Amino acid sequence: MTAQASESRELAAVIGLEVHVQLETETKIFCGCSTDVADAEPNTHTCPVCLGLPGALPVVNEGAVEAAVKVGKAIDADIPEETTFHRKNYYYPDLPKNFQITQYDSPICQDGELEFSVESERRSVDIRRAHLEEDPGSIKHVREGTGPLESRTCSIERADYTLIDYNRAGTPLMEIVTEPDFRAPGEVRSFLEKLEEVLEYLGVFDATRDGSLRIDANLSMVDADAVGEDGDIDESVLEDANRTEVKNISSHKGAEQALSFEASRQRKLIQSGRAVEQETRHFNETHGNTVSMRSKEEEKDYRYFREADLPPLRVSHWKDEVPIPELPDARRERFVAEYGLSEEAASKLTSTKQVADFFEDVAERFDADLAATWVADNLLGELNYRDMAITDIDDRFDEVTRLVEFVAEDEITAKNARETVLREMLDTGDDPDSVVDREGLGKTSGDEVQQAVVDAIDENPDAVEDYHNGEDGAINFLVGQVMQKTGGSADPGDVNGLLREELES
Ligand SMILES: [Zn+2]
Repeated sequence: MTAQASESRELAAVIGLEVHVQLETETKIFCGCSTDVADAEPNTHTCPVCLGLPGALPVVNEGAVEAAVKVGKAIDADIPEETTFHRKNYYYPDLPKNFQITQYDSPICQDGELEFSVESERRSVDIRRAHLEEDPGSIKHVREGTGPLESRTCSIERADYTLIDYNRAGTPLMEIVTEPDFRAPGEVRSFLEKLEEVLEYLGVFDATRDGSLRIDANLSMVDADAVGEDGDIDESVLEDANRTEVKNISSHKGAEQALSFEASRQRKLIQSGRAVEQETRHFNETHGNTVSMRSKEEEKDYRYFREADLPPLRVSHWKDEVPIPELPDARRERFVAEYGLSEEAASKLTSTKQVADFFEDVAERFDADLAATWVADNLLGELNYRDMAITDIDDRFDEVTRLVEFVAEDEITAKNARETVLREMLDTGDDPDSVVDREGLGKTSGDEVQQAVVDAIDENPDAVEDYHNGEDGAINFLVGQVMQKTGGSADPGDVNGLLREELES
């Protein structure tokens, strides 16, 4: 094919994912070392098992298996009668045993699926398998010099030496492998958001933990004609297409960026008549590009064999015994039915379990409409504006509830609550009572408003006359006078009514 002819080829992206998720357990997957290593000194959460010392024997952590079963149920996967562990052999400095314990031909979950929305359209992606394995340790390449270590970390090419921390070695990981069902980088991003939402609902995942989600993505470009109307692609077309694997992606946004770059790089190669190398590429988050790493290993390079130190695990009955909570889709539907919320409000309110729980808490104390306005619109809106997440204020739910109480009890106006108190609470960290006191926002008592109404009428005989002559503007002028006297803390609608009553009496 000439370059001229190939330029006119319409191409479509085919993307599949391997998502590595750290499972939230107290101890590591094959030993009793704590996984709470965020503030730990390097190499303090280790033992002979996770350091791979000769003769040390692994024992499976029940909590990790339970978490995996929960994930399996949530993605509607098959959980086999029996599951086994294998050794994946490769040498890497952060892998002290020189092999990784993982699962090979009998993973704990197979044939699942996950539904998600892309621009309000429902999509479903098949999940080929999800298996348990151990995380390796972590590596830091460092330059010589003075100054804090963090400022001297660099790429391997520029490093003078390398530090290895085995605290992470043995943290339970679940690797979730999808079919190549994605057709665009944006779909990948939406899928990852949904996956994280589900994992978080299950209570098996902590998104705030560093490196808790790591993604490898396969991408190839095929003739657009080869994609059927339902998005299906012939197996042989997929086999013929050269694909690259992009590693080192650690966020939803990064996934979309890496894959957009990679799709456009491959498109240019193909359209100029060149071949796409089958290789592994590294995503550089700072530059937003991918660079060639090494030729891709094949399965045989890993010499998988059974982990003889771990007997087969019978798990079929776990599916019935391990309960899972209500998941985001079900909860969204219930919110619409039970509270009469719009789809949009219900989606916002179920976006994380914390938000949904908080909404239900506030709805129970006051009423659902007020709770929806305060949680979905006011709170999430103001957080979003400040680039904050619900997790940034999850220890202040009592304060937000107190603020809603102010409004529900009619002690301050909704406008002041939203525009002054909530904003100051988020900006200064003060509690609602202090902000209300400081800003003098407490609604003026009925007596004071009544007095201000009488005064305004006494002091403005012209306006009163105009009112009696049927001039519409006069009442607004008087309302303004009363609002001024009460420092804006009276309700303008109430004042209007009180003035008319007084003027007609
Ligand atoms: Zn250990």
